[in-house]
Amino acid sequence: MTENHQGANTRFVHAGQEFEPVTGAVVPPLHFSSTYAQDGIGGLRNGYEYGRGTNPTRDSLQAQLAGAEFGNHAFSFSSGLAAEDSLIRAVLRPGDHIVLGNDAYGGTFRLIDRVLGAWGIGNTPVDMGDEAALAAAIEKNQAKLVWVETPSNPMMKITDIAKVAEIAHAAGALLVVDNTFASPFLQQPLTLGADIVVHSTTKYIGGHSDVVGGAVIVKDAELAEKIGFIQFAVGAVSGPMDAFLTTRGLKTLGVRMRTHSENAAQVAQWLRERSEVERVLYPGFEDHPGHEIAKKQMSGFGGMVSVQFNGGESAARKIAESTKLFTLAESLGGIESLMNYPSEMTHASVKGTELAVPVNLLRLSVGIEDPADLIEDLEKAFTNL
Ligand SMILES: *Cc1c(COP(=O)(O)O)cnc(C)c1O
Repeated sequence: MTENHQGANTRFVHAGQEFEPVTGAVVPPLHFSSTYAQDGIGGLRNGYEYGRGTNPTRDSLQAQLAGAEFGNHAFSFSSGLAAEDSLIRAVLRPGDHIVLGNDAYGGTFRLIDRVLGAWGIGNTPVDMGDEAALAAAIEKNQAKLVWVETPSNPMMKITDIAKVAEIAHAAGALLVVDNTFASPFLQQPLTLGADIVVHSTTKYIGGHSDVVGGAVIVKDAELAEKIGFIQFAVGAVSGPMDAFLTTRGLKTLGVRMRTHSENAAQVAQWLRERSEVERVLYPGFEDHPGHEIAKKQMSGFGGMVSVQFNGGESAARKIAESTKLFTLAESLGGIESLMNYPSEMTHASVKGTELAVPVNLLRLSVGIEDPADLIEDLEKAFTNL
């Protein structure tokens, strides 16, 4: 059955979620078994053999993820970085090269540069908004993979996915989009020309800050075969409980994202009017440099807002340490509001590199609480400046 005519919420709720045939259980059961009885040697039941290879709870999540992103194949991993590592080792070999955005997530850059770099995979960070520089970097290094995050973390830069797909494909490279920030509710990169979508499902897809996971989603069967082989042969799979929680989260992604987006718009507007604030980075503002592209390729502007303070590093640190509803913590995308000081937290791993982030910047993951309460929390914190 093709799901492609269905709306996002219908796909999130139904893809891969057929009721259980024996009892009719509406929620597919959680399968913990690590192994499966064989009816004689080689007599597998429905292909199930061993839990690293296949597990019904993980299969259900993978079908749901594929449906969510308009892909044909999805692979669920134990973390976002495990997904990225398996993907890169599935499609590249030592000597191959990746061109990535110069504001990629710090952990992604650390993986590509320090871990995979030591195994002979090269990388060149570029400004994805500079088409000539991007094309030149792909050409010069004969890059096989282009890696984009949009909106980017934490600078909220917007990249034109369709445009970058065209440039990558013209040079024979594949385009990977890390769709963690937008989530499949707001943006579906495979429909815009991307070849591969990756997610940290720890964030909006899980949505409740109670499970770590990652995913890779593709349309192409040949790519899927390579990724499936590495998922099985390396084994960085998500466990059944993790898969179950992630499936439960993805079902409500749409309703959560709508509230995250509405709340973030209000918080961003409030911050922008404060004299203590130098700049608010939020793609929903008409004067954000990526606003028109965001409007074209996203169905909303999401729940993330970054803010820079006139009072420099000390102002950012004071606010980070004085809010009550916004919890100072790593991560994002959960129902509760979080605040992060990237230069010492999420992006500490890129300090001193060209991917370093400003020291007067805070990143807000705006939750689904009542926006008036969130703004009051910020207002009280601002009295400490
Ligand atoms: C968190 C994050 C990752 C890494 O995912 P983990 O689940 O923490 O391994 C990758 N990309 C982005 C954009 C992220 O926010």
